[in-house]
Amino acid sequence: MSYVQALCSKCDKVVEVDKNEEAWVCPHCSSPFVVEKGIRRFNAQQKDVAKKVKAADKGIADFEIDGNILVRYKGNSAEVAIPESITKIGENSFENNENIEKLILHDSLREIGGYAFRGCKKLREIRLPDSITNIGEWAFRECESLKSVMLPPQLRKIADSLFADCASLEKVDIGDNVAEIGIFAFSGCKSLVQIELPKNLAAIGKYAFSGCEKLEKMTISDNVSLIEDHTFAECKALSDVTLPKALKGIGQFAFKDCVSLRFVQLPPGVLSVDGFSGCSGLRAMEIPAKCETIGDFSGCTSLETIRIPATVKSINGGFDNCPKLLSINWPNLSGFMKFFPAYYEQEVDKRKKLGVCIYCGGEFKLIGKTCKVCGKKKDY
Ligand SMILES: [Zn+2]
Ligand SMILES: [Zn+2]
Repeated sequence: MSYVQALCSKCDKVVEVDKNEEAWVCPHCSSPFVVEKGIRRFNAQQKDVAKKVKAADKGIADFEIDGNILVRYKGNSAEVAIPESITKIGENSFENNENIEKLILHDSLREIGGYAFRGCKKLREIRLPDSITNIGEWAFRECESLKSVMLPPQLRKIADSLFADCASLEKVDIGDNVAEIGIFAFSGCKSLVQIELPKNLAAIGKYAFSGCEKLEKMTISDNVSLIEDHTFAECKALSDVTLPKALKGIGQFAFKDCVSLRFVQLPPGVLSVDGFSGCSGLRAMEIPAKCETIGDFSGCTSLETIRIPATVKSINGGFDNCPKLLSINWPNLSGFMKFFPAYYEQEVDKRKKLGVCIYCGGEFKLIGKTCKVCGKKKDY
């Protein structure tokens, strides 16, 4: 097979196609198109880019340039082509530009600096050439009109806050070489429905997908060993999560208020489980056998049953506002009943009816009414 780039005739997006095939189905809009035609359209567009870049070289007055670096764009065009001599679009160079809608990049561009397009609220079209190896933090934050992005294949890290608050962003294609996603990278991407993470991904930063309200499905790459704090917090549509096989821990609030989650399969090597508070759809939880610590599960209002292994010796947090959690399978439960208020209340009622000690279920001595087992006084 030999892959080349083509343009989908329906949605106009770049698609990798096998040029030996006759037709191809667009992965963006699912429409079929003729491969040969798509390749021709792509090549024509590349020529058009070259022409516009040449034109930009003439209108160079709009650009403040230092060597090969574009320091600042001073124009007010809706469509901006980057001059050919530029290899780096500098930090903050287009920040908060209110006019730019379409950005035309040529394929000798290597780098986009931090904050370069931050707050370009009308920017809706951008095609990142394969030559780019580095994109700085916050570079596209708050680009509210941006709908889809295909990241360059050589990119290794998705920088901190790179696409944060891109409220229209529906689709992102991440290259296979990305090993790290920075903190807040996609936070607040309210339109993002699905995103495929690359196999080599090893780390995802805190808050990286927090507030992605439409995200439904997430398969986390197998090399990720830790789900950091708040990473998927407030992903209210998230109902299908596949956790990595090598996972060791889940941090605080990692899945906080993911109200559509009904069940999560925890991998057997997990040593520490936290992060599910406010998951009001969760029905049951099975903590893996080697786990050592569990955290806060408050507000899991549908949670009915939990199994916790004996290796867990205490709880950092608890099960407040889990009114249905009455079935608890944990060898160490007796010392921690107060961490399970609904269960505790039920137990206390039961013990009061039986006339035994509410703390341990022991019987009282006839004289003095103190518990034969724990020594506490009858107080009801
Ligand atoms: Zn398409
Ligand atoms: Zn007692």
